[in-house]
Amino acid sequence: MSRGQSGPHYADEGAALAYFTNAKRSGFLIDAGPVFWVVSSGAMLIAAIALGVSLMISNFRDRALMATARELENTVQLLARHFDGQLEDFASIQKSVAAEIQNHVHTSKELKQLLSTEEFHRYLKMKVSEASDFAGVNIFDADGTYINSSEKWPVPPLNLSDRHYFQQLKSGATKRQVLVELVQSRVSTGRTVVVAQKISGPAGEFLGIVTRSVIPDVFENFFSSVVLEDGAINLLQEDGTMIARYPHVEAAVGQNFSSSILFTRKGPSGEYLTTHLISPVDGQERLASAGRLSLYPLTVVSSQPVSTALADWRQQTRVLLWAACATAGVISLMLWFVTRHLKTQHRRLDVAVNHMTQALLLFDSSERLVICNRRYLEIFGLSSDTIKPGRLLRDIVQYRKENGTFSGDVDAYCRMIKEARRVGKVSHNVARIPDGRWMQVVNQPLSEGGWVSTIEDVTEQRRSEERTIKLAHYDTLTDLPNRALFLKRLEEEISRCSDGSQLAVLFLDVDEFKSVNDSLGHHVGDELLRSMARSLQACLGMNEFVARLGGDEFSILASAVKSKEDVLALVQRIHEAIRQSHDCAGHHLTVDSSIGIAIAPADGISSDQILQNADLAMYEAKSSGRRTHRFFETGMEKKAKERRLLETELRKAIESEQIDVYYQPILDLHHNKIVGCEALARWNHAERGFVSPADFIPVAEQSGLIDDLGEYVLRKACREAAGWPGHIKLAVNVSPIQFKSGLLALKVVSALAETGLSARRLELEITEAVLIGDDEAALKILHELRAIGVRVALDDFGTGYSSLSYLQRFPFDKIKIDRSFVSSLTRERGSSGIVRAVVAMASEHKMITTAEGVETEEQRSMLRHLECDEMQGFLFSPARSADSIRELLRADATEGLVSVGASIG
Ligand code: C2E
Ligand code: CA
Ligand code: CA
Repeated sequence: MSRGQSGPHYADEGAALAYFTNAKRSGFLIDAGPVFWVVSSGAMLIAAIALGVSLMISNFRDRALMATARELENTVQLLARHFDGQLEDFASIQKSVAAEIQNHVHTSKELKQLLSTEEFHRYLKMKVSEASDFAGVNIFDADGTYINSSEKWPVPPLNLSDRHYFQQLKSGATKRQVLVELVQSRVSTGRTVVVAQKISGPAGEFLGIVTRSVIPDVFENFFSSVVLEDGAINLLQEDGTMIARYPHVEAAVGQNFSSSILFTRKGPSGEYLTTHLISPVDGQERLASAGRLSLYPLTVVSSQPVSTALADWRQQTRVLLWAACATAGVISLMLWFVTRHLKTQHRRLDVAVNHMTQALLLFDSSERLVICNRRYLEIFGLSSDTIKPGRLLRDIVQYRKENGTFSGDVDAYCRMIKEARRVGKVSHNVARIPDGRWMQVVNQPLSEGGWVSTIEDVTEQRRSEERTIKLAHYDTLTDLPNRALFLKRLEEEISRCSDGSQLAVLFLDVDEFKSVNDSLGHHVGDELLRSMARSLQACLGMNEFVARLGGDEFSILASAVKSKEDVLALVQRIHEAIRQSHDCAGHHLTVDSSIGIAIAPADGISSDQILQNADLAMYEAKSSGRRTHRFFETGMEKKAKERRLLETELRKAIESEQIDVYYQPILDLHHNKIVGCEALARWNHAERGFVSPADFIPVAEQSGLIDDLGEYVLRKACREAAGWPGHIKLAVNVSPIQFKSGLLALKVVSALAETGLSARRLELEITEAVLIGDDEAALKILHELRAIGVRVALDDFGTGYSSLSYLQRFPFDKIKIDRSFVSSLTRERGSSGIVRAVVAMASEHKMITTAEGVETEEQRSMLRHLECDEMQGFLFSPARSADSIRELLRADATEGLVSVGASIG
């Protein structure tokens, strides 16, 4: 996985997630707060439900126990009241018997005498039968001796002076008149409950007791009808001895339970409290309530097992727990869904945010970081340990200051952000950080108070913009401003020169640059231009500005020009600067220039116009022999127009075949015979009259018309020459431009084929400009032509730069020595030496030499003497029309020898 500047690239979201999960481990990115809050509030909700439910359960439990307690207490009260009544009923016979006895008996002796009679037995029997089916009434005297009974007569001997209740009543240890006690029966088997009634004398002295007994089952049967579910009812004596219990527990009856917690804890008025206890009878956990009978020394205890008391509550609790668990379950499920959704969202946001090529920061309203993506850390080389959610803006900027990616004032920056937020507008700015990179920062305030910052590294963009600007405004070869920047600057200066000041625009064209380029190659030409650019820049002052307009054209803008003299001084400076020798790739070159000058606002008020006028002035300087300068004049425009007109007319002339071809004979100097003719174009203009090729050929070359014109001349001349005697050759001039299309060889072959002229009779005249630099294409064409037999001559030899070197590059068939050498041939210190050298060298390379422009007999004999092979010139004949040359050739053929003098005219 590559982690380049543009950030990692993932084939799918899964891989991206994996990547960011790893990133997450490094501990930064987005605040996971929401998930935490959702989870913790969900957990709190569940805890609250649990707490509420447990409170409810405990509350319900208390209530259930309280209800049971209330029920028990009610039962106890009911039973106490019931037994009071029942015992009262039960003991009423005893009471009335005791009362009866007390009315009649005053001593113990009397008691024994009066009552131990059968009569009293019957009385008792009658009394009891009135009442119920309960056991009978028995009477005991003060010694405890059984003296009478309602049941039996005579009574069996029996003494109960050892009975506890008897002793209690006799001793007066109790103030009670009645006692109830469970005893082992001495009459029957089993236990019985005895109710004993004291019989007192008039002075309160003890006379004896009346008893009546009942079996405990009677109580227990009754208990069974009122007992609570699973409950127990106990009847206890005052001292805690159990009399009866339902359900019956044999072992417990007769046991003393006075130590039970139930009887040890008492309320404020001595009443028993309902108590939670472990039953001493059966060990069960019970809720028990006790109450005393008001008339009898008895206590009723009602109890119920806690488990029974809580049975309903348990049921309730189960339902409640179910409901609570279900609710908690639903909440947990919802939480799970929500957190899962949040986490997915969070993860997606993570991927999105970290996949951005921009850095992104999100701050909340308290200027704390909420989100920070990986790109931010990468851009500023920060660590995820320092930059994490929760950090303050100020701290983050401070970190950047410390690691050298922020150079401003931290507080001022934070204030600026604050102010931008206050205004509530999006702010854009591009800032340069100390390491030279450019960052575009966009701060977008958010409605909830925070803001989002996006930061993009725009360094590359910026550099390419700068490059584009540079390309658009500067010339790549010389690094000088280009035409566009020059015009821009010119316009600015024009707009400033409204206050009467002037400015000058100098249009500079290098003289003969083309031949430097053509002869020494483009690399030398380029070097020359660079060197000139340096010289120009070096010679200019504060208020001068130089640009390269293209090719070998430069322009100089001089602002704050006061007079023509100022401009002339500048021209002088420029000429001096560029006339110095330029060292170009090993060549020491001296060049000159033609300068055209236009002054604003006099010569124009638009930049285009001023530059164009300076160009026209430069043209004028060129035409006036170069190496000079010209100020713009109104007539120049006219001349330029004329040039354009000439071009239009030439085009028409070529199309309508108005161009004629003349032929100038070439003579062999040794035999004085015509050996060939040079085809020369002639334009006989309807209005202008005869237009010289020296004027229209350059126009044709500049306008591209030369291709058509050249082909036209070639065909016409070939057709003509085909009709000449076979030994007469035809020479045709070919412009360097004609080599450019690469079709020249084809066109020549086609012309020869069409006219039937033998290739051997055709000679193409080219200038050294064709062999510029290392123009392999042109050489290839020349070789092709030579291969089919066409001869090639080097024209105008001696006018160019370093002609001799070209003779090495191509095996020419002929050298044409330029007219300038011929004309100076006969002068003192003339060119004879050069001509001799050329002839010698040519013969060495088996080349023929032809001297051009031979006008005098002197020149001819000199050339003959110098062993030049051929001549051409007005001395013999100028170029003639086709008809005229045909005639001449015929005459030449018949006469055999043409007298030079005779042919002139
Ligand atoms: P060039 O190739 O050097 O042609 C010779 C020029 O010298 C011709 O001028 C000719 O009339 C002139 N001349 C010949 N003998 C004498 C003399 O004794 N004294 C003087 N003063 N001049 C003499 P022309 O015909 O005016 O042509 C001028 C130039 O135009 C030619 O120079 C040639 O470079 C170009 N040219 C003419 N016709 C064509 C053509 O068809 N194609 C191309 N490419 N160039 C042509
Ligand atoms: Ca020529
Ligand atoms: Ca020539």
